[in-house]
Formats: sequence, structure tokens, C-alpha cells
Amino acid sequence: ATPTALLVGTGRGAQLGILIKGPEVLESTRTVDTVVLDKTGTVTTGQMALVDVTAGAGEDRDEVLRLAGAVEAGSEHPVARAIARAAAERGALPPVEGFRSTQGVGVEGSVEGLGVTVGRPASGTRVPDDLAAVMRTAEAVGRTAVVVSWDGRARGILAVADAVKPTSRAAVAALRRLGLTPVLLTGDNATVAKAVAAEVGIDEAVAGVLPAGKVDVVKRLQDEGKVVAMVGDGVNDAAALAQADLGLAMGTGTDVAIEAADLTLVRGDLTAAVDAIRLSRRTLRTIK
Ligand code: ADP
Ligand code: MG
Repeated sequence: ATPTALLVGTGRGAQLGILIKGPEVLESTRTVDTVVLDKTGTVTTGQMALVDVTAGAGEDRDEVLRLAGAVEAGSEHPVARAIARAAAERGALPPVEGFRSTQGVGVEGSVEGLGVTVGRPASGTRVPDDLAAVMRTAEAVGRTAVVVSWDGRARGILAVADAVKPTSRAAVAALRRLGLTPVLLTGDNATVAKAVAAEVGIDEAVAGVLPAGKVDVVKRLQDEGKVVAMVGDGVNDAAALAQADLGLAMGTGTDVAIEAADLTLVRGDLTAAVDAIRLSRRTLRTIK
């Protein structure tokens, strides 16, 4: 590849809303055969909204939301923002001490003397049957359900809904036409992952992956001989973006993801990932 042709490709990329770290990046896209897509914020908007609050037996819904919202106010996660916003709309949020956030799991903190956690059901916290049923129903329709607990007991369920980006389905179809296999990758659970995958036309979903595990999924595909592009937006995607043969970050995503990636899709739209791969193939063809 001549440096000039690659630079021309880089300039064309900028016009298409694709920022390329260096001219050599275009070369690695040529052989990509698998595209791993993060779910939240990449395939979906990540603009989550709280849609349901369920209190367990003997608990109060407003109290479940108020305490959860107080702790979530300390987190930047899309699920957290939806919960904190909805709680703040209903009244002032109490202060939190000892806030802690665990990527891909949830948050915890002390509110008015209660040890509150919000997130995936912690091991050791039993979720009563009625609340577990509420979670399953929400997840079956693609919602993300989180458990609110205090003092070691599950007290309620919050369901948040996210929407698939309007262009995601067409982008997945275009990736397939280029001969690429799309794979959905998420920390969210299998039911939600399947619902979203079906909505955009992806057959393979890897769900329930902790942030540290995303990079292992990319490595495993590479060990199988795949050449992997990864598209993501979150802090939890950074290591996987760096590991992938080609890392693409959503321009609407976190700085950490953008720094780890080879390419940035400025508009945060998956169709730009298709443009990037097409562009590199065309650029390299003119060079050969
Ligand atoms: P994705 O891989 O789709 O971007 P994450 O790995 O960020 O998702 O999160 C995975 C799951 O962990 C979420 O679906 C949610 O159940 C839980 N979770 C993560 N952070 C939080 C939080 N701040 N509050 C509540 N739940 C959370
Ligand atoms: Mg994400």
C-alpha cells in the first residue's frame, strides 16, 4: 500500500464522518470477517428511560425508587442515568456515603444508614419468586431489569427500556452483504440480548459478559482464526476495542473507548462502520 493512497482514503473517511487514527489502520480492515457489536449505546441508543417500578411485599415503590435513585446519581451508566433522573423528578435525593460502582454489575452506597445496592442480583441476595417473575417478564420484551436491595434483601425491581437505533437493522444487513458475520456482545442478560439481536437481524449473541470478559470473547474468536472488528462505546468496551484487529468507537461514546479504538464513527451511527469497511476495501483495491 502506498502512503499516498492511504492518506487519500483517510481524507475520504473524514468526509464520511469516520476519524482514522493513522493511514495504516485502513489496511487491517481488509481481512476482517467478524464484527462484534456492543449492545447498549452501540446497537441501541443507550438513552434509557425508567418504565416500571415494582416493590416487593411490604415495600413502598416510591421508597424503592428514591433510595435507588440516590445511589445511581453517582454513576454515569445509561441504566443509572435513567433511574436517577426519574427519581429526581419525584423529589430531592438524599446524600450517599461510601458510593461504589462495579462495572457491568451495579452500584452500592449507604443512604440514611441503609446499605443500598442497585444492579444485577448479587450472589448471596435471594430474589423472591414474585420479584424474579417481574424481572423475567420485563426481560422477555427486551427491557433491562435491575434489583434494588438494602440490608441484604431484595426490595424491588426497576425496569428500564432502551431503543434500537433506527439505522442499526439496515447496517447489520449491509455488513452481511459485505460477507461479514455480526455478533452481539453485552453485559446484559441473555433474554434481553436475544430480543435485541432478533430486532436487528443478528443470529449470534454473547450475553452476561462482565467488562473484563469482553476482551476474552474477542480473543476467543481470534483463536478460532477470525479477523475481528469490534464496535463499542463504553468504558467497558475499551480493552476489547484495543484487542480487536480493528476497533471502532462510537463518537457519542466515552473518551476511553475513543482512545482505545483505531477508528471513530463521529455520528455514532453503525452505518458508518459499513462505510469504513467499504472505504478501506476500495482504497486498497486502487493501491494493488
Ligand atoms: P452493555 O455491555 O450492554 O453495554 P454493561 O456491561 O454496561 O452493558 O452492563 C451490564 C449490566 O450490568 C446491565 O444490563 C445492568 O443489569 C448492570 N449494571 C451495570 N451498571 C449498572 C448501574 N449503574 N446500575 C444498575 N445496573 C447496572
Ligand atoms: Mg455500551
